[in-house]
Amino acid sequence: MNNIIKSVIETSKYVFERKLVSGKAGNVSARFKNEDMDVIAITPTLKSLNRLNESDIVLVDINGKNLTKGKPSSEVFMHLAIYKSRNDVDGIVHTHSPYATGFSFSNEKIKRLEGFGAIKTEYLPELKYEKPGSSDLAHGAAEKLGQEDVLVLKNHGIIAIGETVHEAGDLAEFVEEIAKTQYITKILNK
Ligand SMILES: [Zn+2]
Repeated sequence: MNNIIKSVIETSKYVFERKLVSGKAGNVSARFKNEDMDVIAITPTLKSLNRLNESDIVLVDINGKNLTKGKPSSEVFMHLAIYKSRNDVDGIVHTHSPYATGFSFSNEKIKRLEGFGAIKTEYLPELKYEKPGSSDLAHGAAEKLGQEDVLVLKNHGIIAIGETVHEAGDLAEFVEEIAKTQYITKILNK
């Protein structure tokens, strides 16, 4: 199996097992070069990330044209917009992990801690609510992720990106952990 497809399947299973996604939610992708062409391996729509096989992973080109059978995630254009704007990014994980998503539905922001690279602002960046699967979400997310590796999508979830899809998965887990810690701290301080 192509190593990139393998890493997409592994990361999908990992984020499911770590309870960052459940049911058929969430999506994972990685980019690789085939000759000179950018190819994106992405999880399919309407399938649990817990049990994906090689044949479930959909390959598309950078403009979203299918290179294999299957229907890619409904957020495929969000992934493509991010890859187009970030040459240094080859892996993307999108989750609705409960604590981070809870923050996204509230007026509280997730504090930026060490581990997110250079600390620029006090809180993780947020994108105002845009309809899932829309081109406004795709372009808004790509723009906000210009200088960032994590984005909170208001009333929706989070996106984590990295040089590899494994890195993006680790970052998605880290975001959930700090959201959980921040939540617990808030309750204890009440
Ligand atoms: Zn979503």
